[in-house]
Amino acid sequence: MTNRFQVRDRFADGAQFIAGRLRPGTSGRAHAVVNPATGEEIHSYELAGTADVDAAVAAARTAFPGWAGATPAARSDALHRFAAVLSRQAEDLAYAESLQCGKPIRLTTEFDVPGTVDNTAFFAGAARHLDGVSAGEYSGDHTSYVRREPIGVVGSIAPWNYPLQMAAWKILPAVAAGNTIVLKPAEITPLTSLMFARAAQEAGIPDGVINVVSGAGPDAGERLVGHPDVAMTSFTGSTAVGRRVAGIATATVKRLHLELGGKAPFLVFDDADLEAAVHGAVAGALINGGQDCTAATRAYVQRPLYEAFVAGVAGLMETVRLGDPLDPATDLGPLISHTHRDRVAGFVDRARAHARVVTGGEAPGGDLKAGAYYRPTLVADAAQDSEIVQSEIFGPVLAVLPFDSDDEGIDLANDTPYGLAASAWSRDVYRTGRATREIRAGCVWINDHIPIISEMPHGGYRASGFGKDMSQYSFEEYTQVKHVMYDNTAVARKDWHRTIFGDRC
Ligand code: NAD
Repeated sequence: MTNRFQVRDRFADGAQFIAGRLRPGTSGRAHAVVNPATGEEIHSYELAGTADVDAAVAAARTAFPGWAGATPAARSDALHRFAAVLSRQAEDLAYAESLQCGKPIRLTTEFDVPGTVDNTAFFAGAARHLDGVSAGEYSGDHTSYVRREPIGVVGSIAPWNYPLQMAAWKILPAVAAGNTIVLKPAEITPLTSLMFARAAQEAGIPDGVINVVSGAGPDAGERLVGHPDVAMTSFTGSTAVGRRVAGIATATVKRLHLELGGKAPFLVFDDADLEAAVHGAVAGALINGGQDCTAATRAYVQRPLYEAFVAGVAGLMETVRLGDPLDPATDLGPLISHTHRDRVAGFVDRARAHARVVTGGEAPGGDLKAGAYYRPTLVADAAQDSEIVQSEIFGPVLAVLPFDSDDEGIDLANDTPYGLAASAWSRDVYRTGRATREIRAGCVWINDHIPIISEMPHGGYRASGFGKDMSQYSFEEYTQVKHVMYDNTAVARKDWHRTIFGDRC
């Protein structure tokens, strides 16, 4: 990795991007962005206060009529240019994302950044394909058609685990559909969201269409959700904060889209390809250090394969190389912060009383001691109702439990409040078919776990939220459908007026 651009120089003007200009926040509170691999401060910036949110919403409101009135082709062209700018900046984006999150540079280079570029290209095309039922004379006497219209100013709130991709998932469908937006990234990881917004400006997307306020949840976040000029709230984050956001958004009668927590099951039937399941489980559990809402967190393995699976996963986890995120040889970086690492360790430590920590369960020492590292961890034989099986841990921790019948496996897979993603592993098409029908989650993978694509929707069932990111389905979130009905009879006294006037019609 040769890239060493100076974050402090890049964001010297501030970390609020409002009406096309970087500026400092006005909250009066400074915030440090910390490299979790070393604990060192990368940058310090002034957090957004409520006045900054108000200014950003005002900028988005001013930009709305022009952007909503642009032709789909004009918006599409701008998004195609945006994808090209992002491609050119790929190395900088990967570097900044790795630096602020501790993600291995292989992950940011091969997943976060290309995924974001592809998403941008997808929405450039999708901007010209808004769906609706065809116009027609459904009543016999009228012609009806639908208009799919933008909603207005969207207020989006994003988490720290995939800051660049979350900015893309929120911003792209909103602006492709003609909305303008104010995004609040997590205050600990604002850098790539700001770079994304500036790249949009470079691509010619008008100032004010995309604004970023880097602030804390309770003030900037709540102001954005409750703002009277914000027509829609799109939130990705924990279920606990999502509930609070939902309350504020509902009180102000806003369109609401919630992408919340997950606790994805990984269901292995006894005819599965064991090697594939073992590799899939380790990769699926450790992606982004397990800080992934769809990460494999609960493996249920049918009894005949159970011990071999446990041994295989533990052995493979022990080969994973922890290290400097900027070193291409590193498989696993630190977690997002020391506080979060300690929270993850707490779950594992409490599980020791009733379950078996097969591997991991500790922070590494030596050169990695200063970072927020935690070893890949496998916890076997925990009870289904225990905390480690039920709660979202958001770290490199996989719980594994045995099951006997297929019925039991599917019941266990469904037995948490969440429903974001799941996978089932088998060579039997009837077993996998049943899993796809009966697992209650927004995504079910068969013989794989994690891949996502721009064309397909991502979103939860149950406590994982509602609404979809990515794909054509996200236009359902970011547009409103208007029915337009024309009378074709030119008759003053319509047949249906009899319901009012009776025989006097
Ligand atoms: P979080 O809920 O703590 O914070 C998410 C965002 O909400 C941050 O920007 C934060 O500043 C803001 N926030 C906090 N309090 C707020 C308030 N009172 N009002 C308004 N905004 C507020 O989540 P996190 O720790 O940043 O991220 C991890 C969580 O995100 C996990 O639960 C994970 O499953 C979830 N997640 C879900 C998806 C999905 O697609 N379903 C994707 C990524 C992450």
